[in-house]
Amino acid sequence: MTTTTIRATCPHDCPDTCAMLVTVKDGIATEVKGDPDHPNTAGALCTKVSRYVERTYHADRLLTPQKRIGRKGEGKFARISWDEALDIIATKLKTIADKDPLAILPYSYAGTMGFVQGESMSMRFFNKIGASDLDRTICASAGSVGYKYTIGAKIGTDTEQFEHAKLIIIWGSNPIASNLHFWMKVQEAKRKGATIIAIDPYRSLTAEKCHQHIDLLPGTDAALALGLMHVLIRDDYLDHDYIKNFTLGFDQLAARVKTWTPETTAKICGIKPEVVEQLAQLYGTTAMRGEAVAIRLSYGLQRTHGGGMAVRNVACLPALVGAWRQPAGGVLLSSGDSFPKRLDRLERADLRSKSQSQKRRLINMSTIGDDLLKPDSKEFGPAIQAVIVYNSNPIAVAPESSQVARGFAREDLFTVVLEHFQTDTADYADILLPATTQLEHTDIHATYGHLYMMANNPAIAPLGESKPNTEIFRLLATRMGFDDACFSETDDEIAAQAFDPKDQRAKNFDWASLKKTGWQKLTMPDAPFAQGGFPTASGKCEFFSAQMQADGLDPLPAYIPPYESKASTPELAQIYPLAMISPPARNFLNTTFVNVMSLRGTEGEPYLDIHPHDAQIRNITDGEMVRAFNDRGSMLMKARVTDKARVGMVVALSIWWKKYASDGKNANELTSQRLTDMGRAATFYDVLVQVEKA
Ligand code: SF4
Repeated sequence: MTTTTIRATCPHDCPDTCAMLVTVKDGIATEVKGDPDHPNTAGALCTKVSRYVERTYHADRLLTPQKRIGRKGEGKFARISWDEALDIIATKLKTIADKDPLAILPYSYAGTMGFVQGESMSMRFFNKIGASDLDRTICASAGSVGYKYTIGAKIGTDTEQFEHAKLIIIWGSNPIASNLHFWMKVQEAKRKGATIIAIDPYRSLTAEKCHQHIDLLPGTDAALALGLMHVLIRDDYLDHDYIKNFTLGFDQLAARVKTWTPETTAKICGIKPEVVEQLAQLYGTTAMRGEAVAIRLSYGLQRTHGGGMAVRNVACLPALVGAWRQPAGGVLLSSGDSFPKRLDRLERADLRSKSQSQKRRLINMSTIGDDLLKPDSKEFGPAIQAVIVYNSNPIAVAPESSQVARGFAREDLFTVVLEHFQTDTADYADILLPATTQLEHTDIHATYGHLYMMANNPAIAPLGESKPNTEIFRLLATRMGFDDACFSETDDEIAAQAFDPKDQRAKNFDWASLKKTGWQKLTMPDAPFAQGGFPTASGKCEFFSAQMQADGLDPLPAYIPPYESKASTPELAQIYPLAMISPPARNFLNTTFVNVMSLRGTEGEPYLDIHPHDAQIRNITDGEMVRAFNDRGSMLMKARVTDKARVGMVVALSIWWKKYASDGKNANELTSQRLTDMGRAATFYDVLVQVEKA
């Protein structure tokens, strides 16, 4: 028996991007564990990925190509050969492309975060065809845009520094479920005497372990940040020197927040005025003492109408008090732009012909439900005729799910799905192709939570007839007659181009070395904006943004109310009085892992957390089945009567596969396709519902 240990990387949509060690015995992976030497992973994986062996060898793994033999959505397939599958796909795509390649659409997201199996060969393929572009907005684009208007790029406090902070505000995030290794740093900071505060409408696992939990109403985070700025300026908790040298638009900001008194703020946020006063004072006085104040900002708060502005407002706070001066101060939304990525080389937009480049079309993945049902028109262009889905599960994850399912049910739509399992989306495929998991292919990763370039080596051979995404698109490219040299590149050759070795940050990046060591930290200053140097147009932290003005937005921090709330739509709230959010369940990661028995067993079944007051007036008791509904749809869940959900709000932990629910539905039945103020993102947490006994 031969036993080896392979260096790998967790590929999932999680900021931790853990370094994994895979034990392989005689070609079989027997254990996946965290690398004890990786400073962020520190030897621990989350519960989900600790079960990676169970997931990889799951009895339901797709192991051969298949062709649909039942109705769309029915999930009936017959095995076919790779040759037959590739011939069918290439013939169909050629026919469509001959007429108008914009009728072809890729649909992908973060099923893997790797550059190689994500958007390398796949995008080369779609660029060469001249397909429609996918606007990848479903998770983070509102916050990303809001942050960039203010700070210039997604660069922030190094996760490893948080343990040295004196005050940590966890804003719109539940790290115990979705940023575990950051939580480990928080625990360390707590042991050293730091104060930890959670801002979240829901008393999550994280919120209940913090010193204070501020349970504001969903979609009101921007208002809270304005109120905090009001107090900081009113009481002069300011680093005047930092503001003078490294920020832009302070006077306009001061004028803007003048009316945002704690009373006004508290009324909008559904909290007490003293909560605003005390938080601002704690933040301000801690910073004025020269101690590090840090904010871990995540994407929860940007899933509402004004989500981009909310992130922008919060991103203004550190500059006011000079928090950026210290390595452990500032704010971290994402470390994604710290990496010198070479997407041009990976994705090769230059493969588009001149006419294709002039005639591009962007389809928003968050409105796929409506867009799949649009006919040809001058305004929209050609109706979508083919969708190739990889690294995503739109039927379960995209908003207004029943509309998405109607779109994918179109008989004249040709759908190809690359998958590990027969997901809700796979049920609608015409051709279903078996893809490899992270243990079976090569990849290279950046991350959005720490500062390490990460390598993934294949630990085992592909199971059954499964193939890496790259190989599937390589074979399709050959079938389509694409002979550009880039379609012959190996996965190693692609990985070697991911980062720019000439860039100071990734100095000496070399794929062959990275494969051996598994990870390498970027060269970044400890405190990235201690001396300003913001990557904005002005080089400063922009309280006033000329770019926003040019883009038709309010150039100053503002509050944009939710589309649906008691305050903004009182008539709608008469019918649907409860705000609903659907944050991640601890044992699932988007829809990945829902079919892993041990994890689904722990989650149990779809639950709706409802406050005892809201339950009582509806005569709902703990454990009984309830129906949540609005104009877009309805779903059945088991009620959990708990004060973890604040009065007036219900929580449906997500994202369940629809096929595992008793009524075949999940929380996205109720979400809408309306988009955020900036970044064209989904508004998953901007939803009103009514709840009744089932
Ligand atoms: S999901 Fe996140 S915490 Fe879990 S192993 Fe992957 S990167 Fe680490």
